[in-house]
Amino acid sequence: MNTDNRRKKAATVILNAAEQSISDIFAGRTIYEARTAAEAFLDHLAAAPKYERRLCERFVDSMIRYCDNYVPLPFCLTHNVTVVPPEYSPVIMLSAYVPISNDPDCVVAGLKRFIDKCGEFREPLHEAITYEEINAVLDDAQKSYRLVDILAPKLPLKILLFNNSHAEHNSECGVPVDPERETAIFLYHPLETAHDRVFIFAHELGHALHLSLTRDAEVLPDSFDRFNEKLGIIFHSVHQKQEAFADVTAMAVLSGGLSGHLPHELSDAMLENFDMYIRYAIRKHLMDRSLI
Ligand SMILES: [Zn+2]
Repeated sequence: MNTDNRRKKAATVILNAAEQSISDIFAGRTIYEARTAAEAFLDHLAAAPKYERRLCERFVDSMIRYCDNYVPLPFCLTHNVTVVPPEYSPVIMLSAYVPISNDPDCVVAGLKRFIDKCGEFREPLHEAITYEEINAVLDDAQKSYRLVDILAPKLPLKILLFNNSHAEHNSECGVPVDPERETAIFLYHPLETAHDRVFIFAHELGHALHLSLTRDAEVLPDSFDRFNEKLGIIFHSVHQKQEAFADVTAMAVLSGGLSGHLPHELSDAMLENFDMYIRYAIRKHLMDRSLI
């Protein structure tokens, strides 16, 4: 075999291995499988910089195809919501970390962020929320506040379920700066038995509502400051305000048929305040955007 042929053969071996790792990423049904395949793909890219652009393009094409063709659970016909079952969530999460880009540096950076994120997961600790519980919360949130319409004005609200717990959080949410893109809520197995999984989900809807209203995690609606002043509540950080806003939303959403999931010390008068405030915040938001 001459040198040229040997080089060609070596290149084919590298390309085949890299393409296999791309297939393995999208076949990954657990965080660990997707992470191991993503690490292998990065190793192959590092070993063959000449082919980096071509392989990154293949990867992005595969990611687009996967997101277009994976089959989400048919969830609730009256809600603009997609619930992603746990076996699909690792790869759908990957698509939130890696941009659709022709720039290999952007793709590699996104894959590294995804690999770091996967490292935050651990074995499941306590029972996950059920589809019925998700449905019940969304039903009340939509009936009382049209919350699903606010969170998913165009594309469906995406709820990703995981077969894992997370090192720090029970749940997280991502609301894109661009309202044309979709909002995603990640629900993990709770870290403690004392953490009510229905309340956790309603609390995360509250974070998503805050971000939908202001599109900036650091900025709460002005009306929330006035509301807290009236109640004599003082916050010492933006983080405390963010958590309080999410809790107020959760308590308002759950104050109907799901009140068994609320903290016991809440009075009816307090719940009425929360309900009125969330109604006001949403109404003002819609009026500001001339949507009503
Ligand atoms: Zn929170």
